Amino acid sequence: MTSVAELMENDGMLCPQCGRSHHGDLGKCLISEGAAGELPELLGEYMAEHPYVIFDEGTEEAAGDYVLGILDGAGITYSRHTVRRKHPAPDELMVGEVFMRCPPDSDCIIAVGSGVLNDTGKILASQKHIPQVTVATAPSMDGFASASSAMDIGGLKVSLDTKCPDAVIGDTAILKNSPVHMIRSGIGDMLAKYVSLAEWKISHIINGEYYCPRVADLVAESLRRCVDSSEKAVEKDPRALSDLMGGLVLSGLTMNYAGMSRPASGGEHYISHIIDMRHLEFGTPWDLHGIQCGISTLKVIRAYEKLRTYRPDPVHAEKAAASFDYGTWSLKLRSFLGRSADVLIENEKKERKYDPDSRRKRTSRIVAEWDRILKVIDELPASDDLEGFMKKIGHPTEFSEIGISREEEDTAFLMTKDIRDKYVLSTLLWDLGIIDEFV
Ligand SMILES: [Zn+2]
Ligand SMILES: [Zn+2]
Repeated sequence: MTSVAELMENDGMLCPQCGRSHHGDLGKCLISEGAAGELPELLGEYMAEHPYVIFDEGTEEAAGDYVLGILDGAGITYSRHTVRRKHPAPDELMVGEVFMRCPPDSDCIIAVGSGVLNDTGKILASQKHIPQVTVATAPSMDGFASASSAMDIGGLKVSLDTKCPDAVIGDTAILKNSPVHMIRSGIGDMLAKYVSLAEWKISHIINGEYYCPRVADLVAESLRRCVDSSEKAVEKDPRALSDLMGGLVLSGLTMNYAGMSRPASGGEHYISHIIDMRHLEFGTPWDLHGIQCGISTLKVIRAYEKLRTYRPDPVHAEKAAASFDYGTWSLKLRSFLGRSADVLIENEKKERKYDPDSRRKRTSRIVAEWDRILKVIDELPASDDLEGFMKKIGHPTEFSEIGISREEEDTAFLMTKDIRDKYVLSTLLWDLGIIDEFV
């Protein structure tokens, strides 16, 4: 089993499988019981004398005394700030607040939290050009080691290029206090890798997109590790939590290695993005990122299973494409997504995925490579098994459980092909002219 530490040792070496060298910017990843005890040493390495520690109310309650106790015990003078908002979101208010409270002489950010705090810390650290250490409070998502921040800007979901934290600490003494829903969310974010890996390979076959089997293997390995430890992780077994945390960090690192989000995010993530977009615009129901991704994964795998029984028909694809009208479709995008749709419509002007010639080219590749595509689909887990596993660990399996209707779920799936220039199941179904039959 490849550990994060081993990976980091080989960082930057030429990859024999794809010929590129894979870089991850994460300096250190410390996962163990008591790992936060290494904080003073880390600060010493960064020659940081005035760290700025940021919390929200929940993370302060979960780990405040513990983390600050370690700093106090080492005689470190620090500044601290706790964001006291009912639902802290990664938005301008959050960033503005932690920025304004940050003393000018701060020389290291210690972000205590998970998704929101980690992403906010990354912005602060990259703007101030100082190191960042993230002390995870929950193994809830795989973005710890990513070099971007998922933010809400002007009411829209935006991914900002920031920087990877210099160190991530997963101290099981803290992680074992995570709410079980957040642990399930981390597992759901990992389950998404079944789909992201399959779609990466499928797009490689159809579009010749860059693909590295070594990176894909690493993700598959971290997924296996997380699935194996899931049952015990939801019981808060420290060993299982550290396996889950390690898998999540590794998964995030693979996005740095590939220089793209492909290894860890596919169409299932786009369903989750759409739910987030609608929540921001219309206040509709939502849940944690990983929970949304977990449910979406099951939905997408069910659709892939259905696709296995289909034989591509280029004549049908041509007919279906001829009856598609982008003007009507863009109105639907606008009514379902609100202002976020403008970005998607603008993207299509550059991507031109609906262009008849590019569609025809892809469809003929699909027809020619159908057996290879089926082989990739065959590697996906059976949806019934996946559903059974999710139920066993208490992970929701239906969108209705998180307040999302069947109609919204289907429309979100249809729109996943429009989110970014990434070839996903819905694009494949559209290319074959059978997308409407799948919702
Ligand atoms: Zn490679
Ligand atoms: Zn994710």
